[in-house]
Amino acid sequence: MAPFWLGTSWKMTKTLDEAAAYADDLRSAVEAGSVPPEVRLFVLPAATALASVRDRLAGTGVALGSQNAHPGPDGAVTGEVSMSMVRDAGASIVEIGHAERRTLLSETDDMVADKVAAAVSAGLRPLICVGETSAERAGGVTQDVLARQLRHALSRLGTLRPIELLVAYEPHWAIGDGGRTATPGEAAEGLAVVRRVLAEDLADTPTAVLYGGSVHAGNAAGLVTGLDVDGLFVGRAAWTAPGLLDIARRCHDALRRRSLRQPRNPDLVSAIVRKDPR
Ligand code: PEP
Repeated sequence: MAPFWLGTSWKMTKTLDEAAAYADDLRSAVEAGSVPPEVRLFVLPAATALASVRDRLAGTGVALGSQNAHPGPDGAVTGEVSMSMVRDAGASIVEIGHAERRTLLSETDDMVADKVAAAVSAGLRPLICVGETSAERAGGVTQDVLARQLRHALSRLGTLRPIELLVAYEPHWAIGDGGRTATPGEAAEGLAVVRRVLAEDLADTPTAVLYGGSVHAGNAAGLVTGLDVDGLFVGRAAWTAPGLLDIARRCHDALRRRSLRQPRNPDLVSAIVRKDPR
């Protein structure tokens, strides 16, 4: 059975001591057998903590990722770290195109596309984030925005193929303080666009489609049972190890309930999406 991905970005938080304590708590939980086996945990520390978290999580099966990396080769680019550098520090995943990078740091679709190709060349799994702003949703262009972002993100791969690709649908208005979790209908619409673009543009690659945006222990189970989703991507609610582990347990229970149901009819999901959201 494919794993259910559950991960968190620590964003710009945690001293080295705090990162180490979190990793040690996760290690203890894995060793105590309290992480559900079908849940594939991943954490994205700040670059400063990657190597120490790698050492503490070695052999636990918890995947490690970077929140960003520069697409160019190692060289004279002050203040950046390259794909090969984050891989060397222990990352197997690199997050690309997060809402905060697109809005606060002006990351464009072109930069995202370069990073995706560079990540795959370096042997990393890209975790591509796509999402519309509240103005785009209000303007009725959500599906076009998501399809454009994802198509663009994949457009520079050429013949390169990732070993696995993670795509997170994260509406910008759902993320962070003041964010509102997407309703099942809103989330299903975004996830369906992502699945359709992946089927059309990258059908030969194993992919996992995640939802992110104000996920917490109180709503994780409902998202798992209500959505056609292969994982959840969490920010604030998983900034402590107990927080992440609590959500993992709730996903486990919800996955069991989901597996008892009839498999979802994919035609019903894709019917939410209008014909061609290019
Ligand atoms: C995120 O930033 O990707 C995220 C999901 O954050 P939060 O869960 O805090 O909304």
